[in-house]
Amino acid sequence: MSNLGIKKGDKVVIIGGGFAGLQLARTLIKADLKVILVDKQNHHQFQPLFYQIASGRLEPSSISFPFRKIFQKSKTVDFRMADITQILPAEKKIMTAYDRTITYDHLIIATGCRTNFFGNKELSENCFSMKTTQESIDIRNKILFSFEKEIFARPEEKQAWMNIVIVGGGPTGVELSGAFAELKKNVLPKDYHNIDFSKFNIILCEGSKNTLNNMSEESRAASRKYLEDMSVIVKTETILVSYDGNEAVLNTGERIPTKNVIWAAGVTGNIINGLAEENTIRNRYIVDRLNRIKGVDNIYALGDVAYMETPLYPKGHPQVANVAINQAKNLGLNILKSLKDENYEAVHYEYHDLGMMATIGKHKAVVELPFIKLKGVIAWYIWMFLHLMLILSVRNKIVIFFNWAWSYLTKDTSLRLITYIDYKKEKVINS
Ligand SMILES: Cc1cc2nc3c(=O)[nH]c(=O)nc-3n(C[C@H](O)[C@H](O)[C@H](O)COP(=O)(O)OP(=O)(O)OC[C@H]3O[C@@H](n4cnc5c(N)ncnc54)[C@H](O)[C@@H]3O)c2cc1C
Repeated sequence: MSNLGIKKGDKVVIIGGGFAGLQLARTLIKADLKVILVDKQNHHQFQPLFYQIASGRLEPSSISFPFRKIFQKSKTVDFRMADITQILPAEKKIMTAYDRTITYDHLIIATGCRTNFFGNKELSENCFSMKTTQESIDIRNKILFSFEKEIFARPEEKQAWMNIVIVGGGPTGVELSGAFAELKKNVLPKDYHNIDFSKFNIILCEGSKNTLNNMSEESRAASRKYLEDMSVIVKTETILVSYDGNEAVLNTGERIPTKNVIWAAGVTGNIINGLAEENTIRNRYIVDRLNRIKGVDNIYALGDVAYMETPLYPKGHPQVANVAINQAKNLGLNILKSLKDENYEAVHYEYHDLGMMATIGKHKAVVELPFIKLKGVIAWYIWMFLHLMLILSVRNKIVIFFNWAWSYLTKDTSLRLITYIDYKKEKVINS
């Protein structure tokens, strides 16, 4: 027995194959364990590039990686596609949405976050969120379909199809706004000869005083300038109060007719029923520095859904990919070493911030690394290089590189399929 209590031959079940769960499964690929990775999707998703799917720049398959393919050759790691709805810690079991059970000796919860509408049902029903590959495809479908609808719309209804409101001026909102602005400038006017794209408004609403509020003063100012230069309407200290599917009402009293509101203003942890309330804080599992959920035996949490206090981060870590990946690496190595030496002292986790970055458009990015802050062209190349390096599989790196190079050279993209429209819901208005 190691000080983690995991011994050779044990069954380790990981719920969630995001950055943390996938990294852990890959670290344990040669361990003398039986590892079951469970996810409600059949693929790992590279969330930082969702906005490129939503704006038709990348194809979904290039940032999605089927788990069964990743573990094709592994005898240790097996995959189950299931939505886990309940943990039964006393019985060491988890329940699926189809009432099936999976038993475990050790359970790792790495379920990440979901979109947080802060309890506002109207907003959750009418706004788009961008937390899965499918939701990103839905945004692309709906935005492209809006222009088809605009052509048929009555004059008084046209503007609503031409206003996109994006809520949240963090990296996701900023990157999405920039991507739509590039579509507006370079692509859409070539496709839709009958539409006046000077009337296409991309409106970014941010509650605080700045876009990219978590970055330095310099990056905040640069991101706003880039966006405004690209004709994005930036409204700071502005909150979306209500949206009924036709009109967005802001806290300033302004009313914007719009058929498309994208919510990028917050996330909350994907807690699963079954553990006591005192095991969580603000929808995150409270873990010690070995990622063990406090007060529960044999259950760990990793990544966005874990809340860990450390000397450098006494209020918990930011919910970013680097924390998820490195917590998983730390836990994985602790398990591997514990299996070899039962007296091994597991290493406590600490996060060392590697920086932040966001891209707004061609040659327009901001990058803050521990030793340097950059903006403009060099920052843009660094952003592209680092994202390309993080993408799984050589094939996908090549596909993405080719797509980016193609867009760079031609100022165009060929990914403009509208793949699904429910015509019953989308009654075409004849003008
Ligand atoms: C649009 C967007 C852009 C982002 N950009 C950046 C960025 O540029 N840089 C950065 O560092 N971070 C970024 N992030 C944050 C980053 O993606 C997260 O911090 C990271 O994904 C957390 O990893 P995780 O493994 O904890 O969770 P996730 O990667 O979210 O993975 C959770 C997994 O659990 C699965 N799951 C959830 N619930 C269940 C269940 N009940 N049963 C079965 N499976 C379940 C999900 O399907 C998913 O595969 C971005 C996030 C979003 C949404």
